[in-house]
Amino acid sequence: MFGKKTLCAICGTKVSKSLQNQIGDGVICLNCGRICKKSLMETVQTISSAWEENHRRYSAFNQSMAITNFGSGYIYVDNSQQYAYISSYKKPKQEPIIFSFSEIEGYRIEQVGEKTISKTKNKGEIGRAVVGGALFGPAGAVVGAATSKTQTETKTVGGVPILYIDLDLNGIKTTISIAHPPLQASQILDSMMNS
Ligand SMILES: [Zn+2]
Repeated sequence: MFGKKTLCAICGTKVSKSLQNQIGDGVICLNCGRICKKSLMETVQTISSAWEENHRRYSAFNQSMAITNFGSGYIYVDNSQQYAYISSYKKPKQEPIIFSFSEIEGYRIEQVGEKTISKTKNKGEIGRAVVGGALFGPAGAVVGAATSKTQTETKTVGGVPILYIDLDLNGIKTTISIAHPPLQASQILDSMMNS
């Protein structure tokens, strides 16, 4: 109970042992660690500089586009400076990582937590109902494997789409993510990467 409190070397908040990032020459909190998830051997000074640059970008951010759909996350774009950020909320709850279009190394959208359900039925019972996915509707992919007696259908259910964007911020690498990216996410990110 008189143990030395560990403080984040960047923002100074107390950090507990289980919720901290060990970096090259110190310990930082998870919030500060968001900018360097794949560069954990960097120094406090380098990561502090990256955050200073991020603060500067965030205060200078001049939003020209907000990409979202009903129930989705947000992609905010500053076309004039070619900066963008993603957020799960309309108004970010913590300072988002602001990246320039040229700092995107790649992105992917993964379905996390989905389950595969298989069902085997007598072929006669199904008839032609599975054609075109009619049995499960358009949301479930229906794969029919016909044998002489039975037919097995497999569909995937549940799962949350997560957008991951890999960034190289002047040599500091990180990955940012949001759940339920907007439908146009791929199109927007492709155009950023090709600009
Ligand atoms: Zn911190």
